[in-house]
Amino acid sequence: MDFNDTPEEAAFRAEARTWLEKNAAPKDPDDPGDDILGERTSPEIIAAAKEWQKKKADAGWACITWPEEYGGRGATPIQNVIWGQEESNYSVPPNIFGIGIGMCGPTVLTHGTDDQKKRWIPKLLSGEEVWCQLFSEPSAGSDLAGLRTTAVREGDEWVINGQKIWTTGAQFSDWGILVVRSDADVAKHAGLSYFVVDMHSPGIEVRPITQINKGQGFNEVFFTDVRIPDANRLSEVGNGWAVAITTLMNERASIGGGGTGGGVDDLIELAASVELDGRPAIENSSVREKIADLYTRSRGVQYTGYRSLTALSRGTTPGPEASLGKLVGAALAQEMASFGIELGGVTGATLDEGATPGDSLFQEMYLAIPGLRIAGGTDEVLRNIISERVLGLPPETRADKGIAFKDIPTGPAS
Ligand SMILES: Cc1cc2nc3c(=O)[nH]c(=O)nc-3n(C[C@H](O)[C@H](O)[C@H](O)COP(=O)(O)OP(=O)(O)OC[C@H]3O[C@@H](n4cnc5c(N)ncnc54)[C@H](O)[C@@H]3O)c2cc1C
Repeated sequence: MDFNDTPEEAAFRAEARTWLEKNAAPKDPDDPGDDILGERTSPEIIAAAKEWQKKKADAGWACITWPEEYGGRGATPIQNVIWGQEESNYSVPPNIFGIGIGMCGPTVLTHGTDDQKKRWIPKLLSGEEVWCQLFSEPSAGSDLAGLRTTAVREGDEWVINGQKIWTTGAQFSDWGILVVRSDADVAKHAGLSYFVVDMHSPGIEVRPITQINKGQGFNEVFFTDVRIPDANRLSEVGNGWAVAITTLMNERASIGGGGTGGGVDDLIELAASVELDGRPAIENSSVREKIADLYTRSRGVQYTGYRSLTALSRGTTPGPEASLGKLVGAALAQEMASFGIELGGVTGATLDEGATPGDSLFQEMYLAIPGLRIAGGTDEVLRNIISERVLGLPPETRADKGIAFKDIPTGPAS
């Protein structure tokens, strides 16, 4: 591992910092950080996020790894990491473009035609148009290839019917990436096609889902005879699974390790500010032992992340350690949140900024982390991937392999 910037990386970091210093205010150290719980859906936050994205795009700091031809600067992955590290030191609006920039853009750049790239990429990059990901369905999440939303061709158009769910940001999105079943007579992976859908099309109904914290980060999306021009298809009919894999690879890369909410430093601060048995909790040996344990494990996650960064810096692809970041980091973050709540004693169980010790940081984190352990691959699915692809253990039994989708047994229709 090498923790230091190369001279080129240091020069790039300085350039990024100079621009940020001129264009954004430094982050308040007491700011709990990016809101992942739903506030980012307010019109004010969306307008501010669009304005910041436009400012970056005008100065050449948006989507920096994308080709210059489409508004990027052809930067390397490690430069992208450096930019992210620097930007995180400034008070900027929450990133509502994570799905569009992290997943949809790279998929269009990989599989789109020149016309498609020219139509969609510039406005995605400049923040004028927001994108969402319409993959999951009520009976297709981990088993995404089991999806049932249908696409039937009528001339130069496709008619879409079905339902998607957990669609983050659908209520304020302009475009969505959509995987549908275009052929039920072939095996499940072979019968899928991939489209870009205009979210303002007639027949689309978006219903926000209220989460445990009252935020509405994601939605149900219903499709009733929605028409999509064939020109909005990415890749060939029936090749949707390969395109979806491109999106999912980018999703794993953009979700990364579980650095959500507070960390060990915040726990130490909290333990110093609350009392246990008439003394500051930080003086209690069990509290100190627990914090030391969480600190050790969080450093393990951090240094494993550095191995990926070192690989990127050397121009190679990170190895299997990249898939461990979310699996271990999210579970650890959940444990930290739980301990933060315990430290708060009776008031720890409330969610009331001002009244709850530590300004509800760990309470909000506690409600958000379970979602992180599901989104972008559940813990169990990540373990399956590690067992099969890293450890070389025998694959899961797949009873539906090679069977036409329409012949796969299902429960009775309700
Ligand atoms: C915060 C959040 C945001 C999201 N945003 C989006 C979005 O924008 N767009 C979108 O399309 N989707 C989105 N999702 C959905 C997400 O991709 C799915 O929730 C996820 O893929 C799991 O699918 P599922 O919910 O259907 O659970 P299921 O797949 O039904 O899993 C249920 C349980 O069974 C376990 N399980 C399933 N298969 C296996 C197996 N083979 N071996 C062992 N255990 C297994 C799982 O681990 C889980 O515990 C989001 C989810 C969350 C939480």
